Amino acid sequence: FGGHAKPQAAPMKPSGVQHILAVGSGKGGVGKSTVASNLAVALARQGRKVGLLDADIYGPSLPRMMGASGRPASPDGKTIEPLQAHGVTLMSIGFMLEDDKAVIWRGPMLMGALQQMLGQVNWGQLDVLIVDLPPGTGDVQLTLCTKAELTGAIVVSTPQDVALLDARKALDMFKTLKTPVLGLIENMSLFTCPDCGSEHQIFGHGGVTAEAEAMGLPLLGVLPIDLETRLCGDNGTPVAAGEGVMAQAYARIAEGLVR
Ligand code: ADP
Repeated sequence: FGGHAKPQAAPMKPSGVQHILAVGSGKGGVGKSTVASNLAVALARQGRKVGLLDADIYGPSLPRMMGASGRPASPDGKTIEPLQAHGVTLMSIGFMLEDDKAVIWRGPMLMGALQQMLGQVNWGQLDVLIVDLPPGTGDVQLTLCTKAELTGAIVVSTPQDVALLDARKALDMFKTLKTPVLGLIENMSLFTCPDCGSEHQIFGHGGVTAEAEAMGLPLLGVLPIDLETRLCGDNGTPVAAGEGVMAQAYARIAEGLVR
């Protein structure tokens, strides 16, 4: 070390991890975790080594969506062994919390948990670590974007105006923090009636597409409101693990991501 070099803060990118991709949204409930889990499974099915980190501290839903439960082991009391589900290495703050307990943490505690999940989890060698961010533009996003060397972020939104309004704030945050935005995903777009085939624009349609165009960002995918997607998420086997049209849609988005 040279004479005046200051000690560097510990880097938050695990050494065996090639790329960290964050999945964010402005608003909650737009399908961010659904997209994060399905993209992880789709990438794993294409032969990538994939990790999935649930950083949605206030509503960790990935254990449920990935069908994983139990407390990760820590044989040496220092490193934490992640769980495996559907070919994906998985860690969630939810594994450490009791169900039905609200999380009321201050910033420094959040940072500690995030740092632990990145630094102390034995992620092994990964091509990509997908991080499911909490909705909005708070402490977790700020820390991750400034400290974790993200390759890029994906923003999920429904086409609804209130969701888009918040998505714009998330996009602005990534821009300010100089995190490249890889693209947008329009979720819960058209609904096609399974009985008569008629199409309904329940949350509107095309709003995210227009936003991506206006901002000069790639539109990575447009996903419909789909009963199977919801059921699969609730049952712990993401729809991308199956063979249907939604699995194909997620496979296409995943292919575009790593090209
Ligand atoms: P967020 O992470 O943005 O809060 P979630 O991924 O938890 O949102 O999704 C909220 C709910 O909507 C979940 O029950 C999920 O199964 C459902 N959902 C997400 N995307 C779709 C979709 N395209 N079609 C139908 N239901 C969906």
